Amino acid sequence: MNAPTDPAADNDDLLSSLPNGVLVLSEGVIQWVNPAIVLLLEAGSPHDLLGRMATNFVYSADQSHALQRLQKQRPGENALPPTQYRVQTCEGNIRIVLVSSRPIRYLGGDAILVSAMDMSDHSAMEERLRISEQNFRRMFDNMQDVYYRTDAQGVVQMVGPGVRRVLGYEPEEIMGRTAESYYPRSSDRDAFKKVIQEKGEAADFPGQMVRKDGQVIDISISSHAMHDENGQFCGIEGIYRDVTQRKNLERALQRLATTDSLTGISNRRDFMDKALQAFQLAQRYQQTLALLMLDLDHFKSINDKHGHTAGDEALVNFAHMVKSLLRESDLFGRLGGEEFCIVMQSARSQEAKLLAQRIRDHLENSVFQDVAGQDFRVTVSIGITFNRTEDKHIQKLIERADKALYQAKRDGRNRVREQP
Ligand code: GH3
Ligand code: MG
Ligand code: MG
Repeated sequence: MNAPTDPAADNDDLLSSLPNGVLVLSEGVIQWVNPAIVLLLEAGSPHDLLGRMATNFVYSADQSHALQRLQKQRPGENALPPTQYRVQTCEGNIRIVLVSSRPIRYLGGDAILVSAMDMSDHSAMEERLRISEQNFRRMFDNMQDVYYRTDAQGVVQMVGPGVRRVLGYEPEEIMGRTAESYYPRSSDRDAFKKVIQEKGEAADFPGQMVRKDGQVIDISISSHAMHDENGQFCGIEGIYRDVTQRKNLERALQRLATTDSLTGISNRRDFMDKALQAFQLAQRYQQTLALLMLDLDHFKSINDKHGHTAGDEALVNFAHMVKSLLRESDLFGRLGGEEFCIVMQSARSQEAKLLAQRIRDHLENSVFQDVAGQDFRVTVSIGITFNRTEDKHIQKLIERADKALYQAKRDGRNRVREQP
């Protein structure tokens, strides 16, 4: 017998100690087995296997596949690539084995040497990996945030499918482009890059992006710098989310907190905040500042005669009319009721008096109509004052303007008075 072509016969001891299962088949019938295959197939002894068809141990659904392999394994030809089969052990358990085979000569005849490696544990591990990969995918595909990764040049290498919803682009349209393309203002992106460069990360960084349809959205971005094994900066990785709804809500709340709901101009608090800032600036840089206090005349009787709705409309129209006469830098607010206030920054006294007269004239010449269709007119009294070097607080100006206003009322209303 020739050793290289008849290994099973000559190397019984070696093959017996192999941890993988080994068997020799002739015409598909098991001729020889090693202890490992006896264990793998949960047989009581080699005699439970010898003389039986090998395919009997192959799980039914894999049998035709296994038979094909046996038929292909022609004498003298090379080994076939390893294949995974399910086998059924003598105890009825299913195991997954990786089968390799090659033709040999055994006891003077053509035979096939089969090795079988138990892959059950390996397959279970693969299954667990597959499930955890599936879970990750599901999370990745459905997450509200957009995951992204760029290289050192800012070119997008990877972007999550969330980008479809957030920016309206397919991930493939984004990859290979720089993130700059989606920033309406490059200053936003520059500020973000500066933080990443200095701190290595940015959390909840605000900004805006442009959707594919051109709509500008508010985003919040959290990212960190990545470094390669040599410590070299190699890109940015992070997530961004659409926070437009939240921002809109914040803006709406801000508007609500600062505007007068009837006229849409600044409410008392917002006006006083801004007026105080303007006053402090004017005092510091010794610039003139004019403050005008306006109060509609006999408004109580206007309400009484023409109704509250007509009174409201008159207030709204008055506010719009005044606004149309103001400069960009003038501050205008409703202090309450039918009382308004204007602050003119760096205005000469002539300009302030001119504005007051124009407001008075405009209102005097306006005709309002109540719900009954009856016409009525409204007039306004205005008190003016200017900042003085010794004024420590804006309250001083308000007091003087109030005095001037009182004077205007006392002098017969519908006029402008000044308390320099
Ligand atoms: P005067 O010329 O002295 O200023 O007389 P007046 O009646 O305007 O004075 P007063 O301050 O006593 O009355 C203000 C009135 O303004 C009281 C109220 O009926 C009316 N008023 C205040 N707020 C509103 C409002 O939001 N809508 C309407 N329609 N009327 C208001
Ligand atoms: Mg009043
Ligand atoms: Mg009044």
